[in-house]
Amino acid sequence: MQDAIVIGGGFYGSMIALYLMKMRGFKAVTLIEREAALLNRASYNNQARVHNGYHYPRSFTTAFRSRVNLPRFIKDYPDAVVTNFTKLYAIARNNSKVTAKQFERFCHEIGAKLEPVPASVEKLFEPRLIEAVYLTEEYAFNSRELAGEARRELDEIGVEILLNTRVKSIHRQGNESLSVTYEQDGKSIERSTRFIFNCTYSGLNQFTGDFPGTQTKLKHELTEMALVEMPDALKGLGVTVMDGPFFSMMPFPARGLHTLSHVRYTPHMQWNDAPDVDPYHRLEHYHRDTRVDRMIRDVARYMAPVANVQYRDSLFEVKTILVKNEGDDGRPILFEQHAQLPNCYSVLGGKIDNIFDVLEKLDAEPIH
Ligand SMILES: Cc1cc2nc3c(=O)[nH]c(=O)nc-3n(C[C@H](O)[C@H](O)[C@H](O)COP(=O)(O)OP(=O)(O)OC[C@H]3O[C@@H](n4cnc5c(N)ncnc54)[C@H](O)[C@@H]3O)c2cc1C
Repeated sequence: MQDAIVIGGGFYGSMIALYLMKMRGFKAVTLIEREAALLNRASYNNQARVHNGYHYPRSFTTAFRSRVNLPRFIKDYPDAVVTNFTKLYAIARNNSKVTAKQFERFCHEIGAKLEPVPASVEKLFEPRLIEAVYLTEEYAFNSRELAGEARRELDEIGVEILLNTRVKSIHRQGNESLSVTYEQDGKSIERSTRFIFNCTYSGLNQFTGDFPGTQTKLKHELTEMALVEMPDALKGLGVTVMDGPFFSMMPFPARGLHTLSHVRYTPHMQWNDAPDVDPYHRLEHYHRDTRVDRMIRDVARYMAPVANVQYRDSLFEVKTILVKNEGDDGRPILFEQHAQLPNCYSVLGGKIDNIFDVLEKLDAEPIH
């Protein structure tokens, strides 16, 4: 009998498996991942931003938690954090949900650094469309490095890792234990365990058997982020224009390129979570026609040099968020212990640094 089976080898599943061995004294932990490698899905296909609060002027709690978590993330994953670029936040003049004044007040409240930019940087922006530009403190992470670190630590501590293995169902076994059934090499295998941690992000509710589903409602977006080579004038910069139908450009250290995302064009489609609509299946069968031309055309209105980016390819991924945060863009964690299946937890972290919020929750759980 396993102490725990962790389903989903993204950043969350990997960190929870490590936590159970390191901090809770578990001896037999298995991590099951449907892909051929760990951290291959949302934990790789994202904008690689280590949030520091700026992005969430409409959700004080998320902004505040980001401020608390960023220093911990830098301390725990120093080799994965990239700081060698200049991060700018700008406020759009029209259709922004915050004004420059409100943004300044908000950054002051959360204690985040906001400085004026030199004229040489300001002139990269179109003044008729941009109200203000600020120098900020925000970093990127190298998702390949993070994956390597996770794999090394898991191997070192002795977590069993099953790759290319998809869990299909979760069952109750009497009062004391649970089991998962997974498919491996075309065979169906059942394994018993005392605890289950469901860390499958977009796949949280895609199990048959006794799994009751999460109470928190989820929504999925099929997203595209373009990977581009920046022209010389923009190399070494990260830029986010707030707060509405605008855009972000961030270094993507795992490929030595930048991601370009646009609030209007990055989501290709969205739908409410349903047990019979498998998000992974949906993405696998999607045609993936890029919208990079539309992104570049719009962004170049705000920053003319963007017209000269070189498109390389795109990261397509399903982004899963909580329905309740559609309006405020907040990214709290989902952490549920299922009443019908004691010792089975579902976890979703809206962003990478939320892992510390999850570990704090776990600290308070009677897990032994
Ligand atoms: C487009 C986009 C941009 C983002 N930008 C940022 C950002 O800039 N900064 C930030 O902090 N966060 C960002 N995020 C959010 C961040 O990527 C996620 O919060 C984080 O990666 C979630 O980690 P995870 O381990 O829960 O998910 P994942 O990394 O997706 O891990 C879940 C794993 O479960 C596996 N799995 C699913 N079902 C099964 C099954 N039945 N059996 C076995 N394995 C299964 C999957 O293959 C996957 O590897 C972004 C996300 C997206 C999609």
